[in-house]
Amino acid sequence: MRDMDALDLATPVQYVRGVGPARAAEFATLGVRTVGELVEHFPFRYELAPKSQPIGTLTLGETATVVGDITDVRLRGSPGHRTVTARVEDATGRARVVWFNAAYLADRIRVGQSIRLTGKVDVGRQYAQFKNPRFALFDGNDDPLENDADRFEPVYPATGKLPSRQIARVIRVALTEVAEQIQESLPESLRVRRTLPPRRTAVERYHQPTRSEDVDVARRRLAYDEFLLMQLAVQLRRHQAATATTATPVVITPRVDERIRARLPFALTPGQNRAVVEIAADLAQSRPMNRLLQADVGAGKTAVAVYAALGTIAARRQVALLAPTEILAEQHYAKVSRYLAGSRVRLALLTGGLAKRHREEVYAQASRHELDLVIGTHALLEQGMQFPALGLVIIDEQHRFGVEQRGRLRAKGESPHYLVLTATPIPRTLAMTFFGDLNVSTIDGLPPGRPSVETRLLGPGEIGRAWSFVRQRVQGGEQAFVVYPLVEESEKLPLKAASEQMEHLAREALSGCRLGLLHGQMRSAQKDAVMEQFRAAALDVLVATTVVEVGIDVPNATVMVIEHAERYGLSQLHQLRGRIGRGTRPSYCLLCSDTDNEESLARLRVLCQTRDGFRIAEEDLRLRGPGEVLGTRQHGMPVFQVADLLNDLDLLQAARDDAAAIVARDPRLSEPDHRVLREMLRARYADVMPLIDVA
Ligand code: ADP
Ligand code: MG
Repeated sequence: MRDMDALDLATPVQYVRGVGPARAAEFATLGVRTVGELVEHFPFRYELAPKSQPIGTLTLGETATVVGDITDVRLRGSPGHRTVTARVEDATGRARVVWFNAAYLADRIRVGQSIRLTGKVDVGRQYAQFKNPRFALFDGNDDPLENDADRFEPVYPATGKLPSRQIARVIRVALTEVAEQIQESLPESLRVRRTLPPRRTAVERYHQPTRSEDVDVARRRLAYDEFLLMQLAVQLRRHQAATATTATPVVITPRVDERIRARLPFALTPGQNRAVVEIAADLAQSRPMNRLLQADVGAGKTAVAVYAALGTIAARRQVALLAPTEILAEQHYAKVSRYLAGSRVRLALLTGGLAKRHREEVYAQASRHELDLVIGTHALLEQGMQFPALGLVIIDEQHRFGVEQRGRLRAKGESPHYLVLTATPIPRTLAMTFFGDLNVSTIDGLPPGRPSVETRLLGPGEIGRAWSFVRQRVQGGEQAFVVYPLVEESEKLPLKAASEQMEHLAREALSGCRLGLLHGQMRSAQKDAVMEQFRAAALDVLVATTVVEVGIDVPNATVMVIEHAERYGLSQLHQLRGRIGRGTRPSYCLLCSDTDNEESLARLRVLCQTRDGFRIAEEDLRLRGPGEVLGTRQHGMPVFQVADLLNDLDLLQAARDDAAAIVARDPRLSEPDHRVLREMLRARYADVMPLIDVA
């Protein structure tokens, strides 16, 4: 037997009084294995349980606590749907209590027990009534009136077999034994400067607050700690990358700058110019650039990427441009070829769809530095691909590539510079969090001369109006998209819906229009054929299933109809909408939805009101959380228990500054003041440790 009094933070949770192997297994599913992890399993909200009051003084509609004796218990319904009804009395009156679907209570509640219960007061037939109240039963020894005061009851992430209440009890037990072992992780001067309570105090108060201020103060400290660790991890990675690897500097001289600009068919916008200046400054360094270029759809990222590529090529280095799909790779290739017509730049396209012989030819030429620029898809990541003088890697739509793939391409040459493009505007908080090891350039504003894009919401029964609008535009020589965006890449349903709907449209609402279908499971040759027809205006309407496949530039397309719009993220819809309004004529986006859910409708109305991708992304973040805004769940996405990316921006900034100061002064976290931080980092961000453990 283990000595029950000797708990420490490393003790398996099984040995806390009242746990045992079965509950320990349940705790493990919540990520809690040790006592240390247990005391850091924090509540996600609190329920106010007021001080008890006599039953005779209950007021309808208020949340109240009463303490009394159970004088009657009845069971109704079948065993699967057992309703338990009890009568509770004190000296001043009686109350009725009902628990629905409460088979588990049938054996526990007995006449003669004392009970304390908290819930909203309702009217029953004769008495005040509580439905499904929170409660505790008392069998004799314990006094239900002990600690009778207003209290905040923590609500924990829980499981079916391990309810929040049990977790609360186990944490209470553990804290009485180990609270004093919780170490301070911050240097004292830093803690005082940020006016944060000691970590131990914060942990204790957050589990057992007595006032609402306790929660606020404790939460600030715990959120700060989460941010600080995350920022330390990010900045240690960045510090390592900056000091351990070198890159060949690429200096863009005024003459080269002039020549590149002369190749572009337009003058850069102020936003593009700012991005170009930032990129040129990075490229001139002997440590690899690590920069994210974000801009709204249509803001002109390609021109900036081309600028960086040509600058690099002028310095006799090679460039690889990686696109997420064949269509996008081909489109980049076509556009860049046009910009470079008549120049000496040697470029090639490399996609999986190319014949093997052709691919091998590209490999061979690249490996002899007979190619300056290779534009391609995943095929660029194949083993055979070698760049002897890789100077710059450009990745379009970064969030579609895993971190691992990025690493693979990077390893091909000797530490190339690295530029990532994204059309999903990322709110500042998220950019700092997820791409903290990248510098960020933002192109704001669109190139001049863009037509308006009007967005309308069509409700139940109104979709017919969308179809007549499409017909009318098509008759005027314009083109339209009808989109069924995928919720998940693997989802088959929209494909079926889209092909059936297309047949239906061809027969009925859009009969007479020339319709084409584009979906992710088509062969690339088929896709190309359809795309080419649409581009050449041999099709009037393109029915498409995926976001990626419509990442295309057809200026004559002025209408987009999106069905079931409520199913998609705002950022996703905004991105889709970026496919129209690319020519000179006013464009129209028709969001169709049958929902009457007010929240969904409010969300969609945001799109009708603004074209500002950053505002839309903020709204998406507020409504759907970070995972959705980024489109897919990222590898290594930091998960916060306490911190809130929306409301704790000031704390995040403070933590970022403090992490920078710590890393600059003590990049191995070897000072005694940083010992606890180092241990916490080891526990949470194990991947970073090799960076600071090397002697
Ligand atoms: P993004 O990739 O950011 O969505 P693109 O680079 O495809 O945007 O540019 C969108 C369109 O705007 C293209 O047709 C491009 O030729 C045009 N464009 C880009 N920059 C400018 C500019 N400075 N002035 C005028 N047109 C521009
Ligand atoms: Mg683009």
